[in-house]
Amino acid sequence: MKKFVLIALGLLAAGISATAGEKTFALATAGEVDAAFAERVRARLEENAGVVVRPAAALAVEPGQSLEAIGRAAAATLTGADHSILVLVRPTDEQPQGVCLPHERFATLNVARLEAGADAEHVERRAVQEGLRTMSMLLKMAPCPFPLCVLVGYEKVEDLDQMSGNYCPPCLDRFTRYARDAGLRTIDPLAADAAPAAETASPAVD
Ligand SMILES: [Zn+2]
Repeated sequence: MKKFVLIALGLLAAGISATAGEKTFALATAGEVDAAFAERVRARLEENAGVVVRPAAALAVEPGQSLEAIGRAAAATLTGADHSILVLVRPTDEQPQGVCLPHERFATLNVARLEAGADAEHVERRAVQEGLRTMSMLLKMAPCPFPLCVLVGYEKVEDLDQMSGNYCPPCLDRFTRYARDAGLRTIDPLAADAAPAAETASPAVD
């Protein structure tokens, strides 16, 4: 984690983060998803990506509702101050692992799929990894060919556990630039370091 903080400081020194944007990502839950789990994921997404992710109101899931329909319902709650919304969903039936539609400003992640063969710590790590991946997609970033990057391609959910928990340095650089271009509000690492330690902080699993 430390090296990413140093890189972020380097970007600040270069003046890249000087133009503070006003938009934020939002993160909501839909269906039976633990609120404390979602809050830990939200905090880690902010920490790893360096942009503000605001908590949004939880949504209900109707029986058989598709990930697309849930995502559209979530996107309908967005305001002009939001860039897009990430929804941690527990559907009522079998659904794909996730759906990301940048032009409709939403991404949905199926928490039930992320739980396959994992303990609580790994489910949370997988959710953060998938959150970072979908946030990059919402900004229309390309995948990464570098094996030590969370944006590398993978086949099954268990593969996430062998992968990096964060963007590689060039991808973090690109993410920061794309976020700035999209008007997203970045987190000043100096201010974050000066703030009291959050009670939700958890050790990095990288
Ligand atoms: Zn990368």
